[in-house]
Amino acid sequence: MSMYGKLPTWIIPPSVFKELELDSLARYPQEACGVLLGEIKAGTAVINEYVPLHNASGQPERHFALEPKEWVRYCYHPRLLGLYHSHPSAPPQPSRTDLAELPLFAGLLHLYAIGSCCPKATLENLPEPSASAAAFMIQGYNVIRDPQGAAALIEAELAPSIAEKRS
Ligand SMILES: [Zn+2]
Repeated sequence: MSMYGKLPTWIIPPSVFKELELDSLARYPQEACGVLLGEIKAGTAVINEYVPLHNASGQPERHFALEPKEWVRYCYHPRLLGLYHSHPSAPPQPSRTDLAELPLFAGLLHLYAIGSCCPKATLENLPEPSASAAAFMIQGYNVIRDPQGAAALIEAELAPSIAEKRS
């Protein structure tokens, strides 16, 4: 147990993982974004739906921004668990902008997930389609409150179905 209490184990079924991957690669070199819906039961959180949302950022290669009209449809959705976005050519770690904007969402989310596509050079020289799958990964972060009450992220424990590389 962490100092923040018991945090859930996250499960992203392979079908949802695949949707995240396909959306992220389809929107490459722009950032993909969307909401993650599901349910938490007895310490296990299952994401069973990904809803892609428009990236309204003026610089979609470097940032993501939700369209207010779309976001209001989901921000109080009873099954809203998380927010997803992709990093087209950076590791799946929150950027400074991600952290700066976290307070906008933090109170509504349990999971902040970031997908990482392979570096551009790799993607453009794919020997075969499956190479893209091998290079895509997701890191999840629990959205918590630090002792001062500010929103913060700590790495989430992901169940083997997502953490394992698919062969
Ligand atoms: Zn980011």
